[in-house]
Amino acid sequence: MQPKPSPELPKSSSPLWLDRLSLPQFPKLQSDIVVDIAIVGAGITGITAAWLLARDGRRVALLEADRVLQGTTAHTTAKVTVQHDLIYDELLAHVGRTNARLYYEANDEALGFIRDRVSSLEIPCDLTEEEAVLYATTEAGEQKLLREYEAYQSLHMPAALRSDIPFSIDVRKSLAMPGQAQFHPLVYLSTLLQEAVAHGAKVYEQSPASDIHYGEYPEVVTCDGPTITAEKILICSHFPFYDGLGLYYARMQAQRSYIVAAKLGIEWPGGMYISVDGPSRSLRSVVHAGETYALVGGEGHITGQESDTEKHYQALTDFAASHLRTEHIAYRWSTQDLVTVDRLPYIGEISAVQPHVLVATGYKKWGMTTGTAAALILRDLAVGVKNRYTALFAPTRFHADPSLRSFLAQTVNVGSWLVTGKLDKPSREAKDVLPGEGATVQYGGQRAGAWRELDGTLTVLDTTCTHLGCEVMWNAAEHTWDCPCHGSRFAVTGEVIEGPATKPLVRLHG
Ligand SMILES: Cc1cc2nc3c(=O)[nH]c(=O)nc-3n(C[C@H](O)[C@H](O)[C@H](O)COP(=O)(O)OP(=O)(O)OC[C@H]3O[C@@H](n4cnc5c(N)ncnc54)[C@H](O)[C@@H]3O)c2cc1C
Repeated sequence: MQPKPSPELPKSSSPLWLDRLSLPQFPKLQSDIVVDIAIVGAGITGITAAWLLARDGRRVALLEADRVLQGTTAHTTAKVTVQHDLIYDELLAHVGRTNARLYYEANDEALGFIRDRVSSLEIPCDLTEEEAVLYATTEAGEQKLLREYEAYQSLHMPAALRSDIPFSIDVRKSLAMPGQAQFHPLVYLSTLLQEAVAHGAKVYEQSPASDIHYGEYPEVVTCDGPTITAEKILICSHFPFYDGLGLYYARMQAQRSYIVAAKLGIEWPGGMYISVDGPSRSLRSVVHAGETYALVGGEGHITGQESDTEKHYQALTDFAASHLRTEHIAYRWSTQDLVTVDRLPYIGEISAVQPHVLVATGYKKWGMTTGTAAALILRDLAVGVKNRYTALFAPTRFHADPSLRSFLAQTVNVGSWLVTGKLDKPSREAKDVLPGEGATVQYGGQRAGAWRELDGTLTVLDTTCTHLGCEVMWNAAEHTWDCPCHGSRFAVTGEVIEGPATKPLVRLHG
């Protein structure tokens, strides 16, 4: 098949999932309230937990900094699978057979939970059963795939080893897992949210939580002042908005990836695919407004450690043109997820001394199942029911290997970016930045970040991240300032888009 020339990319980023979707709206938190359970963050974890607890008769308040369902969950690929890239061989080596099997079962139960909710609540979220397929194109990838296949067999997981996939991609081996799924995540979750509200859950939007205070009961403090006092607080804010001495910023890395929705020139053969060799490629189909698209994802990198991010969209577009005969790219977007040092999520008490504060984070790009599993675990912990997965996912756990190695590697990486940023002496000046352009510049003798609106308005920011002082980098594709150390992101006007930072970048001009 002759590759077709790459089609053009849409001008701006916005996920297909939000197109033509009307999400429910909720008020700001205006006064202090008391509930049984306070949940912070309305993504898949927070909304699923809110539904579970409200349905059990608990008084629930769900607090959202922005609007509901605008975070990572709105930017996902939404494969619902227990095939989490290559993981089971590694888990066997590091946490043993029993724990590797528990990881599988926790995620498989989550998949079953989603399937059951879709069926019992009749949610029109296009849930379809699909095979999840890993594929290898190199000899090294093939060896990894064979080891993963052995792990599947040892853990009694369903698997089929093959030598191809139904695309014009030169594949050495593929590993298929039957009975997995894909869906429209926001149709599913907005229904669950409305059901939670019908069961009495209170939802507050544009009410960012800023801290947790301890009295007789803990209370969530919001930026505007009102508080929520609760027996338990569930932190489901993606990056935990409150650290609780858990040092989460030092134990997780933010990794960004890119997705394009490509209108196809071929018939979609079914299935969801992901490559085990770099550069990573993830594929699934979606029918949206009567058209079939392939979601082509990949090109992951540590947040803030690349500036020319447009090239990642281009690489995915070129791949789609070569292998899927793309007619056009209708949507493009990017997002980031958190990866822990031992690649297992942190779900449970935020630290040993704060049993009333629970957290769920670090899903390494598999939060449809893991976020759902986390909500089930947090529900049990919140109401005092024993749960067999708590020890495996406890944030207070420590595995000497690979946790220590990854922790040290991450510390070195952060240290080197801290130094690199401080040594960076941009040659440009703010006055030279063109309309629609962002760049690091010299301003008043210091490194600064300049952005010029199309109407000529110039904003200049201090590029020192307000979290721990690294120098933020320009993200050309998304027009944001991203921190290479811990993944915080800021708007061109300085406001925080994603934590761990909680304070805006300091404005120097504009
Ligand atoms: C490119 C990419 C593709 C992916 N594809 C898949 C996939 O195919 N399958 C899969 O299983 N997973 C996938 N994932 C992972 C999955 O999307 C995420 O793990 C999951 O959506 C995270 O959900 P969450 O509820 O933790 O966070 P979010 O959806 O980000 O929700 C957190 C919410 O908390 C709010 N918040 C933050 N701070 C505060 C505060 N201080 N006060 C109040 N609210 C706050 C945010 O505004 C946000 O709404 C992918 C991830 C990436 C990066």
